[in-house]
Amino acid sequence: MDKCKGCMECVRLCPSDIMHIDPRLGKAFNIEPSMCWECFTCVKGCPEAAVDVRGYADFAPFGHHVTQQRAADRIAWRIESRGGSVREFVFPIRTTPWDSIASPATAPPPTTEAAHGELLSFEPDYLAVEALPTIPSKRAAPTS
Ligand code: SF4
Ligand code: SF4
Repeated sequence: MDKCKGCMECVRLCPSDIMHIDPRLGKAFNIEPSMCWECFTCVKGCPEAAVDVRGYADFAPFGHHVTQQRAADRIAWRIESRGGSVREFVFPIRTTPWDSIASPATAPPPTTEAAHGELLSFEPDYLAVEALPTIPSKRAAPTS
């Protein structure tokens, strides 16, 4: 919490709306950890690398701490095990320049038909396909 500047970025980003600012301390905290999707969006989005998380067991051992250091094109992860050993690794986070992808807020609102359809927002365009495959109905045709 010492690193947190209360910038609200994690509050804005969290898809589960569980990152809040403590009004007394002016610092962020997770109000409902059991509802966390563990999507790491708050971890990766925090400009202060202030979110200290438990990583997935497939890349970090039990009882460790994971923190990140974000650059424009990559994230460096620092894993500190409960035994004190430290491992660091880096992976690229994007292949396009920052701000080169239009915000969804700039998109036109969906038609009423689209809003009631089965497709998610921006499908199929964001999947880079012309159309999604149709799934045949499993319901058996009525017999006469
Ligand atoms: S945890 Fe990071 S992103 Fe969230 S309010 Fe604090 S400094 Fe901002
Ligand atoms: S990791 Fe949890 S708290 Fe962080 S943005 Fe994702 S759902 Fe929200």
